Amino acid sequence: MVLRFQPRSATTAKSSRRPEPALLLPARDYVTTVRAPDDGNTSAPIGSLALYGGSAVPVYLGAAIAVPMALPVEEWQLCAARRWAALDPALRERLTAASLSLHDTVRLGCGLLRPEVEAAALQRLCRRARVAKEPAAALFYREEGNRLFGRRQYGAAVRLYSQAASHELPGSPEVSLCFANRSAALFHLGCFEVCLEDIARAESHGYPDRLLPKVLLRKAECLLCLGRLQEAADALSVVENKIAMDGIMTSPTHQTLLGKLSQLKVKIHEKESCSEPAREACGDVQRASEIWEENDSISGASSSLSLNFDTERGRHLVASQDILSGQSLLKEEAFVSVLCPGESLLLQDSSETAWDTRVTNADLYCHRCLRQLLASVPCCGCSYAKYCSQKCADMAWEQYHRTECSLGPLLLTLGVFCHVALRTVLLAGFPEVRRLVEWSHDDDKDLHNTEARCRHLSEAADTRAGSRGIPGCNDSGQYQSSYQAVFNLLPHAEKHSPEHKFLCMLSVVAICRQLQEAGLEAAVLNQESSEKWSKPKPCEETSGELSPELKTVAEAMLRHMLQLQCNAQAITVMQESGFRDDAVVNKKPVRLATAFFPVLSLLNHSCSPNISVSFSGTAATVRASQPIPSGQEVLHCYGPHRCRMRVAERQRLLRQYFFECRCQACLEELKSDVKSVVAMRNSFCCPACRAPMQGEDMLCCSNEACAISVSRESLSHRLQDLQQQIKNALELLRARKADQAIKMLQKCQMEAGNLLSPEHLLMGEMEDHLAQVYATVGKWQEAARHLQRSIEIVEMHHGPSSVEIGHELFKLAQILFNGFAVSEALSTIQRAEEILLVHCGPQSTQIQELQEMKTCLLELPRSILQRT
Ligand SMILES: [Zn+2]
Ligand SMILES: [Zn+2]
Ligand SMILES: [Zn+2]
Ligand SMILES: [Zn+2]
Repeated sequence: MVLRFQPRSATTAKSSRRPEPALLLPARDYVTTVRAPDDGNTSAPIGSLALYGGSAVPVYLGAAIAVPMALPVEEWQLCAARRWAALDPALRERLTAASLSLHDTVRLGCGLLRPEVEAAALQRLCRRARVAKEPAAALFYREEGNRLFGRRQYGAAVRLYSQAASHELPGSPEVSLCFANRSAALFHLGCFEVCLEDIARAESHGYPDRLLPKVLLRKAECLLCLGRLQEAADALSVVENKIAMDGIMTSPTHQTLLGKLSQLKVKIHEKESCSEPAREACGDVQRASEIWEENDSISGASSSLSLNFDTERGRHLVASQDILSGQSLLKEEAFVSVLCPGESLLLQDSSETAWDTRVTNADLYCHRCLRQLLASVPCCGCSYAKYCSQKCADMAWEQYHRTECSLGPLLLTLGVFCHVALRTVLLAGFPEVRRLVEWSHDDDKDLHNTEARCRHLSEAADTRAGSRGIPGCNDSGQYQSSYQAVFNLLPHAEKHSPEHKFLCMLSVVAICRQLQEAGLEAAVLNQESSEKWSKPKPCEETSGELSPELKTVAEAMLRHMLQLQCNAQAITVMQESGFRDDAVVNKKPVRLATAFFPVLSLLNHSCSPNISVSFSGTAATVRASQPIPSGQEVLHCYGPHRCRMRVAERQRLLRQYFFECRCQACLEELKSDVKSVVAMRNSFCCPACRAPMQGEDMLCCSNEACAISVSRESLSHRLQDLQQQIKNALELLRARKADQAIKMLQKCQMEAGNLLSPEHLLMGEMEDHLAQVYATVGKWQEAARHLQRSIEIVEMHHGPSSVEIGHELFKLAQILFNGFAVSEALSTIQRAEEILLVHCGPQSTQIQELQEMKTCLLELPRSILQRT
């Protein structure tokens, strides 16, 4: 069993009792929390481990590559394609013309969405997205929650009660029951602050009076646990008065209540008599703020950058002075972001009765600020939007959700890009949208094609006009994260395929039509009276023709749709899979949201970038991942990274951005004799002599004496079998059969040794899985040994100072920490810290956890230190 000790800085002045046993550092990104098997009296965590995703190496999710749900559902794409194919050839030709402006595209396209065909088809597709509040669903989720609560699966119960609450009508007694039940589960999870919030919510939504004492007692207990003794005592006297007023209680429930009441009174008294003065929040929690001098002309950027322009590279950022590794270069709040819904939300073939209990992004993150949700506040109108707080819910409503709420099914059907396009316009406000759309029409006349515009601009740059002539800059030459900057991101309208443009246009028109039909036009045009909660009045006559204002909106949205293909930035996060109750909580990287970051968008792509981007909520921070000498361009990787893909694959993926990558890595690899690092490392080995195999369809042993040859197909089959067996082993782990899982993984390793090169990523993954299994059963030494081998392989692929190695070392530090390997833990912490500081900065949760671990280790009693 693991000894428990308390990391000092993890205890704040506010909480006198930490709910989790001491070793549990807050389970955040990259942390896998190992929990004790349910022994019947506790579901408490016993320690904290590191990332165990499906792979040892976090999958890099770049910008907009291969994004699920970015585009409309397939059926709608097909419907649009049929419409396109059946268009009058003359009209199709006009729509295909490269010189056709967005304005004319919308004008021509408006009437092409036929109510009885395309609109009807879309309506049918929308029925699959269930985002309305349904009382039957509420009941189902609540009962399901109660069932799991009974089985002490409190984390899962919290999620289900949240689902239930999202389907109840606001202010109904039922919704208050959901909040009260959820507060009980939160209490068991030790989330006292959130529990108190839920109790307050239950009270404010009309929780039944007769049930109140129980909830109020919970409140007192929470306050007690949080060390807020006076408030706890006050809460108790409220309960006492209530019970006294309600008359004599004889039922067993009330007897229990009274018993509990007196117990709590004793506890409060004890605490008060021996209470030490509450510790002040220690000063060392404050991190040294980073040196940061903001750029005069680019908002959010460091003064060591400058915005340049030339015909070849377009707008780009260059180091105007020498930049150090780890220096932060850019901090930007997304102009707009839209949470990516979970896959299961739409694509399931949902029958009427079966409700989905699977958890999706939509349940896990605040739909406005993207903070992780524990106890969500549902939208008052739909069951889809959920928020971290009432404040976020109100702000989202005010800014965009009052328009989006009733469009939920349509937006889910048409995909995230459409949703981002609409929200961008709503956030900008109609007057600004109109101003820029009209301005772009003048611009179309002046400078008809991009080439002329570029010439014009490079002339401007040559004549030292500064950044004044660069698109997106305001009159004084400043580039800010504004709608103007978003509007000026390149839509590449002439480069998209006509079919794609048509699909985007038809989708945008469908949204605008629905806005008009639902009576939301006034809201969109900011002409609405201030009654923000009022229901929109559906429009009486639906002529089908869009108003001129909505045509302007449609044109702006079409522009944003086209821009997104090149300019969408993914906000990614490490996500827990499974509930908090599971023995091992896995973390895997997921794309959380799609956003516009107009300043970040100034960075060009390289397959071998010199920066790292990290996200916190909807904010992005860019840091130099290596020293950047003055004059060098600052480069971002849009996804295809040289350590992750071969050059051919990278070039194929980069085609969506309408450019051919000519970065150093690509140029080198394109010279035929240089093999990609990825190809060399992820290769097969000879089954006889284990030398590397070479060739394409038929692989030959590179050892001439051996001369064995095997078809790639048969090797690939064996690889697939192996991957399946690894999956089975992980299933065993999930079923808490650690011994069997270990045996199976060892067998896999034996087989892999005859098939894969020793540096193959899968070899590393198996070591990582073994480390995970050993950690689950508390065998920290074995876990560390296996993880170290996995790290060697990750290092070969990504380099010793890569962010991937940082995460792996973080994991190792936690294992060594839990295993009391003090000196090894300390040196690993230091290495992890050095690397993660560069990529994620001092404020990142990992850095803070590493520092907590260090403090804790340094304070260990000498007796323990000597033992190690
Ligand atoms: Zn929020
Ligand atoms: Zn809503
Ligand atoms: Zn490249
Ligand atoms: Zn051989």
